[in-house]
Amino acid sequence: MIVSANLETVHTKIAVAAKEAQRPADSVELVAVSKTQPAQAVEAALQSGQLVFGENRVQEAQEKFPALKQHHRSLRVHLIGPLQTNKARQAVELFDVIESLDRPKLARVLAKEMEHCQKRPDCLIQVNTGEEPQKAGVVPADLPALLTLARQELSLPVVGLMCIPPQDEPPALHFALLVKLAKQHDLKALSMGMSSDYETAIRFGATSVRVGTGVFGPRQVKP
Ligand SMILES: *Cc1c(COP(=O)(O)O)cnc(C)c1O
Repeated sequence: MIVSANLETVHTKIAVAAKEAQRPADSVELVAVSKTQPAQAVEAALQSGQLVFGENRVQEAQEKFPALKQHHRSLRVHLIGPLQTNKARQAVELFDVIESLDRPKLARVLAKEMEHCQKRPDCLIQVNTGEEPQKAGVVPADLPALLTLARQELSLPVVGLMCIPPQDEPPALHFALLVKLAKQHDLKALSMGMSSDYETAIRFGATSVRVGTGVFGPRQVKP
């Protein structure tokens, strides 16, 4: 099975990078990004013991995960893509972690839907560290205000920060910036690093890495 071999390789690389950073291997969680992959691919990963998955679209996740969750009670799904407020209720119902909180309006709607659903998935704030206009995420200068709103005013369960560095820049500076922001605001979870750079992210302190093609191989369609 290609997925099980890939998972083994990724786990080995995570362990090596963690050791080099003098961190325990289990301080890094692997989020297997299953977007565009069929449910059978997720099943294959589950058979190899992978329990945490990432999806970037609410609707695609809804098509795959409710059935899988019925059979695998400890399966957890992270939302790693932009969230529209009109899909917030479905997101709260389905996801265990929402990594893409990035604006005041979404924070308010999530708080309302968590109240309605009586379910409080952990939230990470996505930071647009490269300040790219086309990219989701709060720019660093607006992070303090968003955090104050989310944590103090709305009591959202904000546990950390997430970033996607610009494609054409070395990621290290962006990882370092995210680490600095998390320290400033006393946040523990750091979701950073994808297939091409997760080992670097771990050296900088990533507590979770989001690996798609490294686990499942090339994606079928462009996400
Ligand atoms: C697709 C995606 C990933 C995984 O990308 P790979 O390069 O396939 O590992 C990670 N994070 C986010 C936010 C994504 O959309």
